[in-house]
Amino acid sequence: MSKANILIIEDEEDIRELSRYNLEKEGYAVSCADSGEKAVQEIRKQAPDLILLDLMLPGMDGFEICKILKKDDETSGIPIIMVTAKSEEADIVTGLELGAEDYITKPFSPAVLLARVRTVLRRRQTTPADASEKIEIHNLSLDPKRFETRVDGKPVDLTATEFALLHLLARHPGWVFTRTQIIDAVKGSDYPVTDRSVDVQVVGLRKKLQSAGTLIQTVHGVGYRFME
Ligand code: CA
Repeated sequence: MSKANILIIEDEEDIRELSRYNLEKEGYAVSCADSGEKAVQEIRKQAPDLILLDLMLPGMDGFEICKILKKDDETSGIPIIMVTAKSEEADIVTGLELGAEDYITKPFSPAVLLARVRTVLRRRQTTPADASEKIEIHNLSLDPKRFETRVDGKPVDLTATEFALLHLLARHPGWVFTRTQIIDAVKGSDYPVTDRSVDVQVVGLRKKLQSAGTLIQTVHGVGYRFME
């Protein structure tokens, strides 16, 4: 495997150097920036394969950088892993809705960092399943053409909304979706669905799925994801 280029945007030197050390040890090519302004220049010079983005930066913050990169066709495809403090759940939600792929909370261990980086890079290489394709994952199977759901081979009767929600999550195992992202994907953003109604749908869905219900994981304060 050719080694991926990773850009670390982080103003705290200790964290930056520790991340660099561990990523380089793993064989990645690493570059660093300690401010958003420098980072954006760096990215335009040479697009990295992945960005580790600290949200709290002096000057241009992580959200600004995320917005700039996701708005530009040249850079919108570069996956971003946000780095946040554990208590900043609202920030995680904002970052995911701005298009960041994943997040990691400080303090993090090298093992967690490397696992997250590997996962996001691997997702990039596998093309996402066609929306009409049948999905078989764990003990669940979903057939979008027939609106058919099976758990351990036995059919489960879902409403159209439940099916759409489950399909969205199961097509992207491991991805965290915020409630707003779920509402947008499932119903279209003009439909009056609340965050609370997403939770209600999930409760109903888990109950109907029985043993497969645990495949839908709650990411506290952020949203939901399907087990990888
Ligand atoms: Ca910082």
